[in-house]
Amino acid sequence: MLINDYHIHSRFSGDSNEDLDKIIEKGIELGMSDMAITDHLEYDIVGMTDKWKLNLDDYVSTILKYKEKYKDKIDLKLGVEIGIQPHTREHLEKQVEKYPFDFVIASTHALDRHDIAMGELQKHRNKEQLQRYYFETVLKNVKTYNNFNVYGHIDFITRYGGSEYRGLNYKENLDLIDEILRTLISKNKGIEINTSGYRYKEDRFYPCTDLLKRYFELGGEIITIGSDSHIKDYIGKDFDIAYDFLKSIGVNYICSFDQMQPVFKKIK
Ligand SMILES: [Zn+2]
Ligand SMILES: [Zn+2]
Repeated sequence: MLINDYHIHSRFSGDSNEDLDKIIEKGIELGMSDMAITDHLEYDIVGMTDKWKLNLDDYVSTILKYKEKYKDKIDLKLGVEIGIQPHTREHLEKQVEKYPFDFVIASTHALDRHDIAMGELQKHRNKEQLQRYYFETVLKNVKTYNNFNVYGHIDFITRYGGSEYRGLNYKENLDLIDEILRTLISKNKGIEINTSGYRYKEDRFYPCTDLLKRYFELGGEIITIGSDSHIKDYIGKDFDIAYDFLKSIGVNYICSFDQMQPVFKKIK
């Protein structure tokens, strides 16, 4: 039985066409008590097309309607995944404040206004340089942003750029990673286990297990699990691996969120 899924995209995201009824029915079918829709809110990225501009009024009112529609079967949470950059803090935090979100994922999808997936950043940097630049930016982000609950797929910089960019240089970046994790923990923020790495043929979660273990070693407690699905069939995918991993390191709970507050749920 799956507990929840806290990273799901729907037709409101530029890279998904999935229907909300189908998403929610899949969660119910999997036995989830709750699930969070977390569509993309991006801002100031070079070449960003209109389909990526989230109409927050429409999005929020629609999700709240579906929350009501399915309230007897599943607790639907109003979430969002904000793509954060150091210079967009004021704008994004103001947007988030305007709406009654249950849950906010902050993710670094772009560095210096360039989407990591588009290849431009890789043209000028090798793997070592790109990973260093990524974690330096994540550190700036976690130091300044406050209106979020968990950091999304915190080491997914290895996903793009082809085989030569694969594999996290964990030890080489541990100074930055530690400072990022300590900052998150001091602000009562969590990280997510994002199971999409298995689908991107990296055979791992984002973050990798070393980094996850480090978060708990340093005293972190807030963890969510998300599929990062853009189609209903990926909802809850590979969560059994995540539950088993957590139990193997003595962590017996994960979090749900309600009005930006964590609720701890036991892994059975
Ligand atoms: Zn993301
Ligand atoms: Zn996502």
